[in-house]
Amino acid sequence: MRFRNRLYQFMQGRNGVDAFAKFLNRISLGCFVSAIVFTFLSLVFLRHEANTAATVFRILYYVFYGIGIIVTIWWFFRVFSRNVAKRQAENTRFLYRMQKVKRRIASLKQQWKDRKTYKYFKCPQCGQRIRAPRHKGKIRVTCSKCSNVFITKT
Ligand SMILES: [Zn+2]
Repeated sequence: MRFRNRLYQFMQGRNGVDAFAKFLNRISLGCFVSAIVFTFLSLVFLRHEANTAATVFRILYYVFYGIGIIVTIWWFFRVFSRNVAKRQAENTRFLYRMQKVKRRIASLKQQWKDRKTYKYFKCPQCGQRIRAPRHKGKIRVTCSKCSNVFITKT
């Protein structure tokens, strides 16, 4: 209990573990696991006297280990930072970006699911994503965003 109190006092006015910190934690864990796998592979290749491959995996080990260390330092910096306002702003930006990535993945999944019934394409003028039913031959499309009109095959 006393330790908990002291930890609580120590964390007062500091950023603590937020969503961005949790993400960094996962990245560093992934890097360290990869580093272990690469060490293992380099040893396997060394045993079979494939020295070039062994060297490549050795380098990959150093790279991933290095990134893991840097991300861990970044995690500590975030969690114990006293500039809470700035860290919270970073966290908000991070969450916003993650949401965008998630939405993009969901839309790609949807595209894959109805790839036989719909053709997906982008407006050549503004990049807006549009879909049209397949097998209708050449069609005239009006962009819903910039009302650019163009012709495409379905
Ligand atoms: Zn457009």
